[in-house]
Amino acid sequence: MNEAMPYLIAVGAILVVFVLPAWFAFRKEEREAMAELAAAKAAGRHEPVSIRPWVDEAKCMGSGACLAACPEHAVLAIVGGQARLANATACIGHGACATACPRSAIELVFGSEKRGVDLPKVGPDFQTDVPGLFVAGELGGMGLIANAIEQGTQATRQALSGRKATSEGLDLIIVGAGPAGVAAGLEAKKAHANVVILEQDVFGGAIRHYPRGKIVMAHGYRLPGQKRRKSGTISKETLIEELGAAIDDAGLDVSEGEPVTSVQRLEDGRFEVITGERTLHSSAVLLCVGRRGTPRKLGVTGEDREKVSYRLLEPEQYRHKHVLVVGGGDSAVEAAITLGAEEGCRVTLSYRKEHIVRAKQKNQEKLAASVAAGHVKMRTLTEVADIGADRVVLVGAGAEANSATGEVLPNDAVLIFCGGVLPTKFLADAGIALQRHHAKLVTTLEETAPVGR
Ligand SMILES: Cc1cc2nc3c(=O)[nH]c(=O)nc-3n(C[C@H](O)[C@H](O)[C@H](O)COP(=O)(O)OP(=O)(O)OC[C@H]3O[C@@H](n4cnc5c(N)ncnc54)[C@H](O)[C@@H]3O)c2cc1C
Repeated sequence: MNEAMPYLIAVGAILVVFVLPAWFAFRKEEREAMAELAAAKAAGRHEPVSIRPWVDEAKCMGSGACLAACPEHAVLAIVGGQARLANATACIGHGACATACPRSAIELVFGSEKRGVDLPKVGPDFQTDVPGLFVAGELGGMGLIANAIEQGTQATRQALSGRKATSEGLDLIIVGAGPAGVAAGLEAKKAHANVVILEQDVFGGAIRHYPRGKIVMAHGYRLPGQKRRKSGTISKETLIEELGAAIDDAGLDVSEGEPVTSVQRLEDGRFEVITGERTLHSSAVLLCVGRRGTPRKLGVTGEDREKVSYRLLEPEQYRHKHVLVVGGGDSAVEAAITLGAEEGCRVTLSYRKEHIVRAKQKNQEKLAASVAAGHVKMRTLTEVADIGADRVVLVGAGAEANSATGEVLPNDAVLIFCGGVLPTKFLADAGIALQRHHAKLVTTLEETAPVGR
């Protein structure tokens, strides 16, 4: 008995000094993760907006490698010894969790069981059901500049792989000159293909819609024919300059101000592409039209006034003005924060739901700080009913009614950020089927709900 005593004391000491603190620390982390999960559920943040990680419970062993790898930090949490989705709306699709997982237990998926996301049906080679017609970039569901560049590059390689040396005319028509379209065009030039990009506006895509001076978070990417850019931040203006210089260097033909209205595959397998100005023919077509080309409108009276805009380019122009920002996503929240910091700008943010859950966590925190500092006035649970020359009317449970019609606010400008309209008719006319993605479950739209958003 006496002989065993020192061993028992040693084991007890190990338990007290090492095992118990580790166990309590583990339990504390797990309790915190569960609390975060509950808070995310209460705020609606657990319901993914678009892309998010999906964890295969049969494979996950709770190593935590995914948490450590995630640049957004709070997307996943370890609960019950397994990775669980804690804050779906914080996911912006880096995919670092999936790469880091030692058991390949994570996949990136779109939508959730409840909230579907409509995406064009494309194969792993970016080709749609229409042979020769390809889709890349955000239209295919993959956000972020680096992803758009990579997809545009790869899709072009696929589109040109069947090119015949003898084919006449254009090898490839690219529709849209955002990051995906520009990368696609540069890759086509590298392959000495006969290519043109048709752009309804000016090159740059969604980047042009960022506020002036916005610091863009860009992951490492390589524009075809250019040096690789490491991950990090870059200003909107530098990024646009970089794209412009690459276009010039390559002698890439970007036809700006030329919207494409129709893409049809002809009987001989070539394509007829109709724009506002001309009809073109090519062997293949790559659609890089993004998802926000046409801003979604509110459909209220007065929306056609000049003071209404669907992007924020120069925040300084709103100094000492009354501005109404409408929306609950990152664009609306970033605009409200940016404007709130402008001298004398009185900003109201109107959102039809109770909580802002669609914006990234960091943006939500910045917004809360702007509201607390009195820079932004929140009006959740409100909708815009009327836009007058020098006022706007808000209605709904969150409106502080100060007139018979609702809440009347003095107003000099309205900025609306309610997303973009997916060009469903344009895609359907070209023969592209849309699929509604419900996490792992994929349904063909024709089989379920009618196409539309
Ligand atoms: C406010 C905001 C902030 C963002 N911040 C970041 C960030 O920090 N980091 C990051 O990586 N990503 C960010 N993104 C996302 C990123 O901008 C997009 O994922 C990316 O631009 C998608 O590229 P794309 O080429 O697929 O589409 P887009 O950039 O949308 O380009 C599509 C182009 O197609 C054109 N087009 C559309 N229809 C037609 C037609 N019928 N005919 C001819 N042309 C047409 C459009 O005019 C547009 O130029 C942000 C997005 C927004 C809105």
